[in-house]
Amino acid sequence: MRAMVLDKPRQPLQLRDMEKPRPSKGQLLVRIATCAVCRTDLHVVDGELPASKLPLIPGHQIVGRIEEIGEEGNSNFKVGDRVGIPWLGWTDGECVYCRSNRENLCDRARFTGYTIDGGYAEFTVADARFCFRLPDHYDDVEVAPLLCAGLIGYRSYRKTGDARRLGIYGFGNAAHLIAQIALYEGRDLFVFTRPGDMETQQSAKGLGAKWAGGSDDMPPEKLDAAIIFASVGPLVPAALRALAKGGIVVCGGIHMSDIPSFPYADLWEERVISSVANLTRRDGEEFFDIAPRVPVVTKTQTFPLEQASTALDRFRSGELKDTAVLVMNAS
Ligand SMILES: [Zn+2]
Ligand SMILES: [Zn+2]
Repeated sequence: MRAMVLDKPRQPLQLRDMEKPRPSKGQLLVRIATCAVCRTDLHVVDGELPASKLPLIPGHQIVGRIEEIGEEGNSNFKVGDRVGIPWLGWTDGECVYCRSNRENLCDRARFTGYTIDGGYAEFTVADARFCFRLPDHYDDVEVAPLLCAGLIGYRSYRKTGDARRLGIYGFGNAAHLIAQIALYEGRDLFVFTRPGDMETQQSAKGLGAKWAGGSDDMPPEKLDAAIIFASVGPLVPAALRALAKGGIVVCGGIHMSDIPSFPYADLWEERVISSVANLTRRDGEEFFDIAPRVPVVTKTQTFPLEQASTALDRFRSGELKDTAVLVMNAS
């Protein structure tokens, strides 16, 4: 099978002809149709996250069909079914976090496209228990960005509770998806972009945001919650200052530049700062239930597998307006 492989961080991915993986007990062999590119892939490829497996096939928003089921495949799946494979690839099921419905924090969790090989390839194997059925509403390209930008974005959104006035800092892929759910649920949406990025501010207003401005602006009303999707640490104190009493700032990314110091008065009155780590299977089930009802619309740009590095370069430089989705066309 063909695969795009990371040999070393900060180097272009290499196209390799590799042996097709074999599913072991409980695993599915999946013929990959599409794999969306996530900002986390950039953090891995650029060495901003510590390398934990090299060489590595990146990619964790995988859509494909089951080609083979490993022995004792005690799953609900059959050959030919369409599945989605997310970032959370395996947990031990027995640590204190797994036993308290917090498998996203599992001590021994394995992650697709990071600690185990992912979806920049024609085939992959995945633990059946962590694969999702995907709503028929979406085709293979449309549904791919929902598997991380959508799903972990949704976990960030749920952390804001029933906040009525919701701020979103950084209006990229995840923000665009979550904004649609927030509006569907009747929240007032305030969108913060790079200062001067009128185009993105217009598109946020077009989507239904009550207000859009630069990240250095104060919103016209205090916010009950803010989600930060940009990996920019200085946005944390900025968002904190925009909060009403008791509000929460949720950091939705896996990596962020350092957070500058700020006066305690900005945190006072029970304001909260939280990060969001990974996902649970339950997040996925909830999200794939609500997404087609909204319906959440994804905006994508497709690339052939061999152009994965081009897709990453365009993502890094900010040229890419939509979510890059790799398309395999395996024969
Ligand atoms: Zn665990
Ligand atoms: Zn991701």
